[in-house]
Amino acid sequence: MPEAPKILSDSADCIDGIVVENNNKVLKFIEDVTADADEVQRRVLSQILSRSANVEYLQRYGLNGCTDRETFKKVIPVVTYEDLKPDIERIANGDTSPILCSQPISEFLTSSGTSAGERKLMPTIEEELGRRSLLYSLLMPVMSQFLPGLDKGKGMYFLFVKSEAKTPGGLVARPVLTSYYKSSHFKNRPNDPYTNYTSPKETILCLDSYQSMYSQLLCGLFQNEDVVRVGAVFASGFIRAIQFLEKHWSLLCKDIRTGTIDSKITDPSVREAVMKILKPNPKLADFVEAECSKGSWKGIITRLWPETKYIDVIVTGTMSQYIPALDYYSNALPLVCTMYASSECYFGINLNPLCSPSEVSYTIIPNMAYFEFLPVTRKDELTGSISGPTALNDKEKQQLVDLVHVKLGQDYELVVTTYAGLYRYRVGDILRVSGFKNKAPQFNFICRKNVALSIDSDKTDEVELQNAVKTAANQLLQYEASLVEYTSYADTSAIPGHYVLFWELSVKDSTLIAPSVFEDCCFTVEESLNSVYRQGRVCDKSIGPLEIRVVENGTFDMLMDFALSQGSSINQYKTPRCVKYAPIIELLSSRVISSYFSPKCPRWTAGHKQWCTQN
Ligand code: AMP
Repeated sequence: MPEAPKILSDSADCIDGIVVENNNKVLKFIEDVTADADEVQRRVLSQILSRSANVEYLQRYGLNGCTDRETFKKVIPVVTYEDLKPDIERIANGDTSPILCSQPISEFLTSSGTSAGERKLMPTIEEELGRRSLLYSLLMPVMSQFLPGLDKGKGMYFLFVKSEAKTPGGLVARPVLTSYYKSSHFKNRPNDPYTNYTSPKETILCLDSYQSMYSQLLCGLFQNEDVVRVGAVFASGFIRAIQFLEKHWSLLCKDIRTGTIDSKITDPSVREAVMKILKPNPKLADFVEAECSKGSWKGIITRLWPETKYIDVIVTGTMSQYIPALDYYSNALPLVCTMYASSECYFGINLNPLCSPSEVSYTIIPNMAYFEFLPVTRKDELTGSISGPTALNDKEKQQLVDLVHVKLGQDYELVVTTYAGLYRYRVGDILRVSGFKNKAPQFNFICRKNVALSIDSDKTDEVELQNAVKTAANQLLQYEASLVEYTSYADTSAIPGHYVLFWELSVKDSTLIAPSVFEDCCFTVEESLNSVYRQGRVCDKSIGPLEIRVVENGTFDMLMDFALSQGSSINQYKTPRCVKYAPIIELLSSRVISSYFSPKCPRWTAGHKQWCTQN
């Protein structure tokens, strides 16, 4: 297997030669692993299986220490999280025997995908941090092929940690990025011009989101002339930073002017770290104040950080809704999506980072895990959803193909086998093959499977939505009203976006129903939705209050007529529970009688309902 490139050593003066040499090593590494993709995959699988030969899970299926693909595919089932849940619960409850992986599970990564309303728990092992660091180390050498000079300035990245919980067995459960930022791989990273950020690590590691955002913006503004690239993980996080600036710029300017830090920032380590950077700078304060108090915020990023060459944020998938806002704030700087990753495993990188967001494709890095692909059929035009089979029959199992055998233009569901103990695990992402880098395929991210509604990292499926709507609609019965039909859509026309439900009712006397009854219904739906949705509402404020729009009687008949006119079969027609197709949304919107919003935020606490939380 090709050697992973070494990240730059801790030399005090990273001269250009070292940077170039390191970049070349990384690019050669990418060439090698993609050229040899099938052989790398064979070795990855063999390594995973030989290391884990003794684990209960593989023994249960009778793998008997075999490490070849054929036997593996014959005996090991393709699974979802629900299949693994009993094993995962045993680990969470403190069973330390080798159930899934021969190496000790170091912690759980809490995915934004949910099961029974709670975040999924992905087991991980210490060495996975090295694999994540490896993927990160590939990004800037790739970028530097297209934009030189990035090693000469700083990155202003808004990065955050989230609260963590402990499982009953004592393992930490937290999001993958929180785990990474708290690890020595990030905190004690070598002196590398490509990971030179304006935010001191103390500001990133501060759990209080106000203090973290304020101090990161303060440091970013203070070092504005050094900044050559800006970003956050997802586009929504970057937009939140700009909105925070819109609200707090005068306080930030005061701090820049006086070289002090506002008293609301109470975390001593944050104060100390920021004070090492900040000096009184009235000229800069005047400049920032003048820019921020102009009527328009168009181009504010390039005005305040004039050397910025691009915005590094994920704008694929549901994040594409933020592209117009980012274009507005940046005067259309390039939007760069660098990587594709998840709590289960980091998958791949974008080798053509300056391409337009609609063309982004990710090259799978073959040594991150063992990858298989389950063919799926194309989207349903009306709902925009892809629903794959939940349990696979024998024929479907045989259709799974290896990394190098995927077909150009075909859609697949991603299935991974990881070093941390997931075997033939369905990630739930639908990808389309867009090309190849040597032998390694490149994929467009299409969507999450079975997700009806999503605004930020929330993923609400039809069943969840159905249960939530049913609970809420029960409240109407006492007013002699009932829900006849409903559908939903994610309204992203404003920031933050919000869920909209279209309700058609059968009502005896509509004057008997006060607006507060529908507002309560909105709130009940929100309370019934999963923990990631509620966290987005409460903590991140990345999702706005849910809205119910009551439509005129007969609207859903019109919807059916429309679907039939578009070629749906009358025998098979079912009301779509989620709509994305613009003409349908227009039709529904033209029939709205009244609309109501959730009056308050639903409840949310960190960790699973049954665990105690720790901060
Ligand atoms: P999580 O497990 O919460 O970290 O979320 C991982 C999921 O986020 C992936 O399975 C994808 O659905 C989504 N995701 C991650 N990276 C990207 C990307 N570059 N573009 C679109 N979606 C992404």
